[in-house]
Amino acid sequence: MGNGMANVITSSGETLPMTDPRVQILIPSMGKFATEALAAVFRGKGLNALAHPPSDEAVLKIGRANTSCKECLPLILTTGTLLNYLQNEKKDGNILVYFMPTGSGPCRFGQYQIFMEDLVRRLEIPNVALFSLTSENSYAGWGNNFQLKVWWGIIVSDAMEDIRSMILANATDVGAAISILDQEWDLIIGQFEKGDFAPLEKQLDSTAQLIKRIHMKHPIEEMPTIALVGEIFVRRDGLSRQYLTERLAEKGFATICSPIAEWILYTDFLVDKGLVDCKMTKMEKLAFIVKKKFMARREKRIKSILSKTGMVHIEPLDVKAIVNNAIPYISPNLAGEAILTVGSSLTEIVSHACGVIAIGPFGCMPNRLSEAILNEAMNREGKLATNPKNGRLRAALANIDDLPFLAIESDGSPFPQVINAKLETFCLRAERLHNIMLEVGN
Ligand code: SF4
Repeated sequence: MGNGMANVITSSGETLPMTDPRVQILIPSMGKFATEALAAVFRGKGLNALAHPPSDEAVLKIGRANTSCKECLPLILTTGTLLNYLQNEKKDGNILVYFMPTGSGPCRFGQYQIFMEDLVRRLEIPNVALFSLTSENSYAGWGNNFQLKVWWGIIVSDAMEDIRSMILANATDVGAAISILDQEWDLIIGQFEKGDFAPLEKQLDSTAQLIKRIHMKHPIEEMPTIALVGEIFVRRDGLSRQYLTERLAEKGFATICSPIAEWILYTDFLVDKGLVDCKMTKMEKLAFIVKKKFMARREKRIKSILSKTGMVHIEPLDVKAIVNNAIPYISPNLAGEAILTVGSSLTEIVSHACGVIAIGPFGCMPNRLSEAILNEAMNREGKLATNPKNGRLRAALANIDDLPFLAIESDGSPFPQVINAKLETFCLRAERLHNIMLEVGN
């Protein structure tokens, strides 16, 4: 696609530029913050982009009615989203371009786009096209400048997700605090649309100052925190994760959801290490190096501003360390989410979180692989291997064998009784570890 944008050919044969207002780009929801940020960055590029609201029962029902239901949950929900929009929202005369990232690797993700194209053909839906960027070349396609702006959106939306979780679990007046967050989010979205970093920074700073003043029940550093890891779509989508963040908040736990940025940095890592089939010219390689430098700088800057809330970690994401922590159990040559789920779980537990929940769609292969590994590795030896010389870690783990870990598979329906019971036990164990962490000052 190059730095320019492709054209769209309508069913009647007319060629329209992507920036034509009749070309509506629809972004399926992968959590409110990330989807809205991405749509705003697209609008900043002059595109008529819309973030679909988070999936609900109706979307799930339409998705199930148009798939065999053996597909992965994210595919069922994105199918439901597309058809729901076409049935209820699409304006006559508009051309719909559905945003659908793609990639290969050891799972079915690469088939999503093919399935969708087939669906549109089968149902003879006019004026619908798919728009994909691929993880194989680290989502290159529209040039570094656009990628960088998407990156700002990802870093900020990841942080907002964690701020929201902390507010849900800890704010004295949750309703009032969430409406402050929503108002601030609208202002941030306005800055993404404008696309300049300096005013965005200014806005983030003012947002951080306001959020810092929200009255909390407990000091933030004393809040028990659960790391939510696993498949990238399900861990971010409210319906898929069955509102786990809200349920944990009711039990007094804040949730840190593994960031989307982790996956983006991982795709760069794969390109760097030659673990994906991506051939670059010398110039492209140079541009790739420059892009990574700018990304690191912006990540540092945004996190340093938002860390003033006390709810966002200032340290930049270290994907190499995450992968290294997983290497004793899984080869880095097996590219995909499993290595990140294993590495993040072992990295976060005790260091930042008192429990880890790994969630994924029913039947998801990378998720089952990581679950099998983590059932064995989430114990004292597994954690100490990530940082053998850390005295505080040794003290915290002195009387603990197994670490609080729960694996959940979701098909979008309410969790079965057995998972609810396991969740109760998990929370008790996490609370116990949290108290030990407070005692040793971890
Ligand atoms: S990661 Fe899991 S849910 Fe996603 S495409 Fe692969 S198998 Fe399906």
